[in-house]
Amino acid sequence: MSRADGFDAVVVGSGPNGLVAAVTLAEAGRRVLLLEAAGRFGGGLRTEELTLPGFRHDVCATVLALAVASPAFRGLHLDRPGADPGTGRAGVEWAHAPVAAAHPLDGQPAVVVHRDLERTARELGKDAAAWRATVGAAVRAGDPLVDTFLAPLSPPRAPLAAARFGAAAALPAAVLGRTLFRTERGRAVLAGMAAHSMLDLRSPITSGYGLLLAVLAHHVGWPMAAGGSQTVADALVARLVANGGEVVSGHPVQDLKELPPARSVLLDLTPRQVLDVAGDRLPPRYRRRLSRFRYGPGVFKLDWALSGPVPWRDPSVGLAGTVHLGGTLEEIMLSEAEVAAGRHPARPYVLLTQPTVADPTRAPEGRHVLWAYCHVPNGSARDMTDAIEAQIERFAPGFRDLVLARHALGPAALQARNANLVGGDIGGGEASLAQFARRPRYSPHPWATPVPGLYICSSSTPPGGGVHGMGGLQAARLALRRD
Ligand SMILES: Cc1cc2nc3c(=O)[nH]c(=O)nc-3n(C[C@H](O)[C@H](O)[C@H](O)COP(=O)(O)OP(=O)(O)OC[C@H]3O[C@@H](n4cnc5c(N)ncnc54)[C@H](O)[C@@H]3O)c2cc1C
Repeated sequence: MSRADGFDAVVVGSGPNGLVAAVTLAEAGRRVLLLEAAGRFGGGLRTEELTLPGFRHDVCATVLALAVASPAFRGLHLDRPGADPGTGRAGVEWAHAPVAAAHPLDGQPAVVVHRDLERTARELGKDAAAWRATVGAAVRAGDPLVDTFLAPLSPPRAPLAAARFGAAAALPAAVLGRTLFRTERGRAVLAGMAAHSMLDLRSPITSGYGLLLAVLAHHVGWPMAAGGSQTVADALVARLVANGGEVVSGHPVQDLKELPPARSVLLDLTPRQVLDVAGDRLPPRYRRRLSRFRYGPGVFKLDWALSGPVPWRDPSVGLAGTVHLGGTLEEIMLSEAEVAAGRHPARPYVLLTQPTVADPTRAPEGRHVLWAYCHVPNGSARDMTDAIEAQIERFAPGFRDLVLARHALGPAALQARNANLVGGDIGGGEASLAQFARRPRYSPHPWATPVPGLYICSSSTPPGGGVHGMGGLQAARLALRRD
């Protein structure tokens, strides 16, 4: 924190939103200081040898479809060779598995979501027309439709397509699944996608999360970053430094009073930490609003080092970057309803990824890494290892024989690594309809706080959780306009 001529902006927290905000400000000519509590930059974009030497695991985010699709990341062109102007290094490389996602079912072939929309629809048989009419229509609308949902408070770029899509998206996945699809397979695949929302599937807008992810599978794929998600954070930090930004890690900010003077302060923090660091400066009404902000369920995450590929009963599942384990719509509904009610499901819905299928460099030759989590009540201390592994064994008998090492992160361990993961909530707050509109408050500019020059840019602002950098982009643009 030494810059003699001071800073125009200080960004607290280096998750994807903090990094995008810092780069946006620095590229607009502002003198930026970035402060990060952890020993490394990246927040949700971290890669570590969690199990054994040579096995590189994404600690948090790994499937970066939202990053590829988002206007914030598209505008940065991180994937262009030489994208890093400071070092001239090659940019981020997106690694695609042969198949975006698979959803195994008992006693029948898995549902496979290919990059190719038509092939996916065809394989859904009686549900082909439904897939084309909803997912297909949105894919045809392309970037303008995706942008409309990732920048929900900006004028819609594709109003008609968005209105059509929005009508289906508003419904609970439990309702849309049963009315749109005629087969167990169509219903299950929607449920697997919608359950990313961490909501009870009887809640409004859960279809929206599911449909948007399905659209992205065809529109941009569901890639990972070659070498691990950390490479995306590293590219953003390099871009920031090349534009004159100063970066400090291992520096938890306890109070805004510690910060050097700056016209703008952008907090890549959730409301609970905003109250901790800025509480005494905020008007009582805004403080009350932040203290009422709701956090969603937590996750229990496992990473494995494996001696070989997972022995899926249906070999097509072995080609998928992401696998949704949980069976039918009814089973997944039950699992998510249990979590919403504060209980631990006996057969949890498990979101699993196979990073080495897309990017073999993450493990020694012939070996594999595997990443999975299930939802648990916020703050849960229950070890879900057996329940998660039982769901894998259900569709891949013999899986446990391949395990060389495993590493678990429950809610408390996740929060200890990153204070934003309150009670293990990975979305920066519940993704419900109420909180989609009030994130963290009703306002055309929810990134601004009532304190001039103080902004929130984290996933606790629109559009919410995921690696898309849109909270950071919007907060930085607002700061550039106002300060
Ligand atoms: C296990 C897991 C799996 C996930 N999988 C995916 C996925 O596959 N795809 C996807 O798109 N998203 C995924 N996510 C969600 C995604 O990681 C987050 O939505 C995203 O990282 C949020 O970005 P952010 O910038 O708002 O905050 P974060 O990434 O949480 O970053 C916040 C940063 O602020 C720092 N910080 C906190 N307090 C302070 C302080 N007082 N002083 C200084 N620094 C501070 C933290 O250390 C952290 O580095 C996953 C998350 C987890 C945990």
